[in-house]
Amino acid sequence: MKILILSDIHANRVALETVLKDAGKVDKVWCLGDVVGYGPEPNECIEILRNMNLLCLAGNHDWAVLDKLDLDDFNPDARHAALWTREVLSPANFNWLIKLPERVPIQMDEITLIHGSPQHPIWEYVATPAVACVNFDYFETPICFIGHTHVPVIYRYHTENDTVSTELVPENEHFAFGPERMMINPGSVGQPRDGDPRSAYAIFDTDSMRLVHRRVDYDIARTQAKMHMAGLPERLIVRLSHGW
Ligand code: ZN
Repeated sequence: MKILILSDIHANRVALETVLKDAGKVDKVWCLGDVVGYGPEPNECIEILRNMNLLCLAGNHDWAVLDKLDLDDFNPDARHAALWTREVLSPANFNWLIKLPERVPIQMDEITLIHGSPQHPIWEYVATPAVACVNFDYFETPICFIGHTHVPVIYRYHTENDTVSTELVPENEHFAFGPERMMINPGSVGQPRDGDPRSAYAIFDTDSMRLVHRRVDYDIARTQAKMHMAGLPERLIVRLSHGW
């Protein structure tokens, strides 16, 4: 089975559509949360996802829009975007968003899906090997896919000395899962933050247990023009050009 893994779409429809076209035909889609927030087309993104064979998690920006998280924890730009999203979201899409779960263990494929971290699924950033190391105790499957940091990375757990090593996710190569347990972040579709503005995603083949990580150029200027029209903060518009 071919599974498309998306994370942190952030209401960037142009990026989402570009990724879906690049990925081609897949059997299922897994989305690791933050469908909305920051970007200009939350309704359109949700409507695309609603028509798919999809497993989707809640992220912190989804919860902020739903008023399930304190907006004071957000910086002013993120808060502005969350409040704007809350205003424009249709009731049907609000109801879809509110039903998203925090965690999905998929025992059949020996995978756990999480937005933030296994310990704190909504808000913790797994951004260092030390944080990753603690979190290997909070899920049971060999592999856990995470999002939230918008940075593609692999954390590999070494049982013999209780340490974690970090690797970049190879681009366009078939990456085979090793004997070690791993946490893998496929990067962000709608707001990459690793200095590369291209959309990031992964395709997971459950038959061969291999992963392909892809980066794809999308029409950033088109998304930025929509953000201008929506009156979203300038800093959020500019950062898309830099992937930061
Ligand atoms: Zn995010």
